[in-house]
Amino acid sequence: MSVLTEMFRNLFSRPVTILYPAEKVPVPPGFRGKVTIADEKCIGCSKCSVVCPARCITMTDSPREVEFKGKNLARKKKPRVKLYKCIRCGLCERHCPADAIHLTGEPASCGPSREEVTA
Ligand code: SF4
Ligand code: SF4
Repeated sequence: MSVLTEMFRNLFSRPVTILYPAEKVPVPPGFRGKVTIADEKCIGCSKCSVVCPARCITMTDSPREVEFKGKNLARKKKPRVKLYKCIRCGLCERHCPADAIHLTGEPASCGPSREEVTA
């Protein structure tokens, strides 16, 4: 096909690109995006921090009461995730006993300071 034919054909066809960010590409099932933590579910067991191969989860002080399997537990710690170091392996999600940490469909976050890319 000559260049001219190709050019004229494309003049009357729909573009293959989309108007991002006005239009969004559907997120496929199983996509590993930004890590989020449900504080109200987290029992502060540190398992996510132990299994993380990128060493991006640290446990920080957060005294609180959490309901777990019908019991109220007094917890001292909660995880903080350095999203800029996360490799989206999903091990934290797989090993969490309280279903508190998840990889969402949101793409990786970015920001001018480390605080803004910490969950
Ligand atoms: S997805 Fe992997 S690298 Fe990211 S916080 Fe979880 S365990 Fe760590
Ligand atoms: S493994 Fe789950 S419950 Fe345990 S500290 Fe991490 S997020 Fe919290």
